[in-house]
Amino acid sequence: MGLTKDFFIMLSENQALNEAAKKYGLSLGANKVVAGVDIPSTITAIKDLNSKGITATVDNLGEFVFSKEEATKAKEEIIAMIKALDNSGVKAHMSIKLTQIGLDVDKEFCYENVREILMAAHQHGHMHINLDTEDYKHTVQTFEILDRLKGEFKNIGTVIQAYLFRATDDIEKYRDVRLRLVKGAYKETPDVAYQNKEDIDENFIKLIEQRLLSARTMTSIATHDDKIIEHAKKFINQHNLNKDLIEFQMLYGFRTELQEEIAKQGYQFCVYVPFGQDWYGYFMRRLAERPQNLQLVTKSIFTPEVNKNIAVGAGAVAAVSALAVIATKLRK
Ligand SMILES: Cc1cc2nc3c(=O)[nH]c(=O)nc-3n(C[C@H](O)[C@H](O)[C@H](O)COP(=O)(O)OP(=O)(O)OC[C@H]3O[C@@H](n4cnc5c(N)ncnc54)[C@H](O)[C@@H]3O)c2cc1C
Repeated sequence: MGLTKDFFIMLSENQALNEAAKKYGLSLGANKVVAGVDIPSTITAIKDLNSKGITATVDNLGEFVFSKEEATKAKEEIIAMIKALDNSGVKAHMSIKLTQIGLDVDKEFCYENVREILMAAHQHGHMHINLDTEDYKHTVQTFEILDRLKGEFKNIGTVIQAYLFRATDDIEKYRDVRLRLVKGAYKETPDVAYQNKEDIDENFIKLIEQRLLSARTMTSIATHDDKIIEHAKKFINQHNLNKDLIEFQMLYGFRTELQEEIAKQGYQFCVYVPFGQDWYGYFMRRLAERPQNLQLVTKSIFTPEVNKNIAVGAGAVAAVSALAVIATKLRK
C-alpha cells in the first residue's frame, strides 16, 4: 500500500478535522462527489440519475458516532430519507453504516436501530437496505447483525470486500442475500487481507464469477475498474446470466460518462449517492483510493498552473500539499 493511500486513510480517521469540516458546506471539491447536504437537493440529484436510466443507493454521511443521542439522530435521518424517497417516487434504496447507528456504543442498541430502519423501509415500498461494510472489526460485527435479521427481513443485504481472505466463504454463505461486491476501502492487516493490488484484483474477479454462478438473488458489482467491468460483462454474456439479477454500481460523480454508457448497453446501473454535512471521512477515503482524485481538491482551490504541477506530482508530494491545504482550510 503506497504512502498516499495510508496517508489519506489516516486523514479520514482524524476526528478533529472531521469536526472542523462539518462547519463548512461541501468544500475542497467535495460537491463533485457528494450529491447534497439535505434531502431535497439529494432527491433532485437522484431524479437526474433516474432520467438517464440509473437508480440510486443513498448514503446518509456520518462518522465518529460515540453516543446514543448521535446514533438515534442518525437513525431518524435515515428513516426520514426512506420516507422522502418513497414519497417522491424515485428509483432508489438506502445504504447504511452500522457505526453511524451505534455499533461502537452498544451492539444490542445498534441491532434495534437496524431493525427499526428495516421495518420503516419495508413499510415504504419494501425498500432494500444495504449494510455497508467498514474496517474488519466492524465488518465482522455487521455480518453478525445481518445473520440475526436475514431470516426476518428479505429487504436486507450487505457488501463483500474482495481483499478479505474470508470473502469466498461469505459469498457461499450469503447465496440468498443481496450482495454488493467491492475491492475494499480500508487498511487491513496481512493476517486477514490481501495487501497488493494484483492479488486483490485477482480475488475480486474470482469472487464475481463465484457469486454470479451461485446467487439466488441480486448481485451488485461495484467498481470503477474498466478491466473488471469488461470481464464481468463477458462472463454474464458467456453464461447467459439473468441481467435482472445483476447490476453495476459506481460512486456519485465518478466516471459519469461510463455510467451512462453501461446503462445504455442494457445493464442495470445503480449509483451510490452520499449526502449530508458529514462529508469529510468519505471524501478522504476517495482520495486514498486514487491520487488523481486529488484534482477535485486542487481544482477547487488552486490556479490551473499549480493544478498542473500537482497532477504531475500525484502521489506523496501531492498528498503533502493536500494535507497543508486541508488543515489550513478547515482550521480557519
Ligand atoms: C458503489 C460502491 C459502493 C462501495 N461500498 C463499499 C463498502 O461498503 N465497503 C468498502 O470497503 N468499500 C466500498 N466501496 C469502495 C471499494 O471497496 C473500492 O475502494 C473503490 O471502489 C475503489 O476501487 P475500484 O474497484 O473502483 O478500482 P480502483 O482499484 O480504484 O481502480 C482500478 C482502475 O480503474 C480505473 N479507474 C478507477 N477510478 C477511475 C476514475 N475515477 N476515472 C477513470 N478511471 C478510473 C483506473 O484504470 C484504475 O487503475 C464501494 C465502491 C463503490 C463503487
